[in-house]
Amino acid sequence: MKLLLEALRNVFRKPATIEYPRVATPIEPSSRGRHFADLRKCIGCSLCAIECPSKVITMKKLPDELKPPHNKRGLYPVINYLGCIFCYRCVSVCPVKAYITTDEYRLATDSVETSEQLSLATLKS
Ligand code: SF4
Ligand code: SF4
Repeated sequence: MKLLLEALRNVFRKPATIEYPRVATPIEPSSRGRHFADLRKCIGCSLCAIECPSKVITMKKLPDELKPPHNKRGLYPVINYLGCIFCYRCVSVCPVKAYITTDEYRLATDSVETSEQLSLATLKS
């Protein structure tokens, strides 16, 4: 009888779990998600790559036609999100505050957006 009552109660209870991904999970306001360099600001100094504790930032050469005048070295950071621990050290050390931060945590999607694509798109916007 006790079991039956418990079962009946659970039929009308709100589920304790979230049906992710059909229902979005709540995100803390300060949560650290996908981030990438805004190449309209980045000066290619490499400081973020040097300071990254996971060593997942590679400095890549910008195509000549996209090289902005303020980036004399013509380099920009590309992050391998697979190894990133989202500590945001790179964000805090950047001398020109070039990192764009988001709370996007869904990195395993079928529409792959790499940090390279996101950063290069900042020069086209
Ligand atoms: S968030 Fe941390 S681990 Fe990720 S790229 Fe930046 S410094 Fe490296
Ligand atoms: S620290 Fe900032 S300015 Fe320097 S390479 Fe990284 S994003 Fe660019």
